[in-house]
Amino acid sequence: MYNKFQDYLKQELAQIEADGLYKNERIIESAQGAEIIVKGKKCLNFCANNYLGLADNPQLIEAAKKGMDARGFGMSSVRFICGCQDLHKELEAKISEFFGTEDTILYAACFDANGGVFEPLLGAEDAIISDALNHASIIDGVRLCKAQRFRYANADMADLEAQLQAAKDCRFKLIVTDGVFSMDGNVCPLDKIYELAQKYDAMVMVDESHSAGVVGVTGRGVTERFNLKGQIEIITGTLGKAFGGAMGGFTTGKKEIIDMLRQRSRPYLFSNSMAPGLVAAGIRMFEMMSETNELQDKLHANTEYFIREMVAKGFDCKPSESAICAVMLYDAPLSQKFAARMQDEGIFVTGFYYPVVPKGQARIRVQISAAHEKEHLDKCINAFVKIGQELGVIK
Ligand SMILES: *Cc1c(COP(=O)(O)O)cnc(C)c1O
Repeated sequence: MYNKFQDYLKQELAQIEADGLYKNERIIESAQGAEIIVKGKKCLNFCANNYLGLADNPQLIEAAKKGMDARGFGMSSVRFICGCQDLHKELEAKISEFFGTEDTILYAACFDANGGVFEPLLGAEDAIISDALNHASIIDGVRLCKAQRFRYANADMADLEAQLQAAKDCRFKLIVTDGVFSMDGNVCPLDKIYELAQKYDAMVMVDESHSAGVVGVTGRGVTERFNLKGQIEIITGTLGKAFGGAMGGFTTGKKEIIDMLRQRSRPYLFSNSMAPGLVAAGIRMFEMMSETNELQDKLHANTEYFIREMVAKGFDCKPSESAICAVMLYDAPLSQKFAARMQDEGIFVTGFYYPVVPKGQARIRVQISAAHEKEHLDKCINAFVKIGQELGVIK
């Protein structure tokens, strides 16, 4: 039997490769950081979600070690059977404090948080109204739920209103949006979404994976940016990006919602609890966040500097309120060539083109970090200028 299936897979894989969509992974021989080692060579990393530069932070490494010494390596169980540790409750409380929410539930990843949030809360008589550019895990979570589905064009408030009108006879309505959309770096217009939610009696869910730690003066995310802390019913997020970059996800928000998820959310009920070392490091991370905004300040200054310099050099950068800078090239082969030439210069950035972004919208995505020093940013900008001139993108 496998022969036939093998032939089929080989053919499909060859087609993926022929379409230029085959994903090869680079092998990093160092810790994640502003500088990484690849094939024995030092390079600058501008394509990680390591926004606060915490992925190799000594305080977090120390906290993880101490956590393992005190509470062991693993949990070997789900929480409703074996319970959880004091550390897990402490981390949940820290997350609630950070976002100004009532309660928090931990998952192994935000993919699980999004996968397990809709089905326990909503049924066939309800409506989910979802931004067209929402993350894959939200799309999958919505698929698992029986609620009626409505989709609005990215951050398009006229379309959102039209969808809310179409859904007006449904029992409960939930608007779902990413906080920051990862391809453009744009922030969702949460103030307007919230207004429409009030007008049409809907609830709101925000996935803060790319915005928590980044957006807002103190990095509390889009609810801080729009003065809506504590007002949004559901927030999901990850510990795998700005918050240290290891693993772990969470849903935080209204108390009864979190309680229902503890009763019925399948990725919570039927998947292992987070490892003690990661939980201990997470606690330390949120302590650091409450002590100082130094990292957020540095990240915001870095991002502003980078975009200002790039625009001054003649590059077409999308406006961004996040740490994501989309340098528009429009042409798919050009974006691939550009990224490859940047790599030759020791700068890691990613080229994105159709189908990841719309046709004719190819770009290089640059992700800025608090770990970047001015010399790193200048090296990256200088490489952009050199390759940009070489490939005729700028004069
Ligand atoms: C990265 C990301 C996720 C997945 O987070 P993990 O914790 O890595 O599973 C979910 N939603 C959004 C918007 C993301 O950017």
